[in-house]
Amino acid sequence: MKQITVISGKGGTGKTTIVASLATLVKKAVLADADVDAADLYLLLKPQIQRREPFFASKVAQIDPHHCDGCQKCREVCRHFRVPAWVCVNKADINPENTERIREFCQQEGTPVIGEIPFDPIVTKAMVYASTVVEYSGGKVSNEIKKMWMRLERSLGFPLDGIRSISDEKTLNP
Ligand code: SF4
Repeated sequence: MKQITVISGKGGTGKTTIVASLATLVKKAVLADADVDAADLYLLLKPQIQRREPFFASKVAQIDPHHCDGCQKCREVCRHFRVPAWVCVNKADINPENTERIREFCQQEGTPVIGEIPFDPIVTKAMVYASTVVEYSGGKVSNEIKKMWMRLERSLGFPLDGIRSISDEKTLNP
């Protein structure tokens, strides 16, 4: 089984939108929403809940200086073990200068930019209908997410279970 971790800054950056969409494209997937204070992937994927546990967390996520002194060794170790990394720029067309800066940084770091998702209000509309954007619409955002998944498959050098064709499935807003 391959494990893929999606991380980004907190709040509205698109992790849930993209992960939920990718989840609908893969035939077999096990998902864990590890958001520290607002795990909401279930709202889009509507899983059958088997068990509930109480959740405890601090109000603000912070690095515990007793456990992490910022030495950056974890970063080196990831590289040492060749844990591959990719970058996806969400709402990439909103701030082209920033997107260009990200591209340049990724180039310096040798980290491929695997997707640039354009801004589209259709993403919010899909959420209102508690749907993933690829199920809701076959537009530019869906297309870029599908392309990103195919690039990811190629980069990992294995065929996952393949992209499920959703073209024949019901779309609420084709
Ligand atoms: S290896 Fe990483 S997590 Fe551990 S102390 Fe250094 S920076 Fe922090």
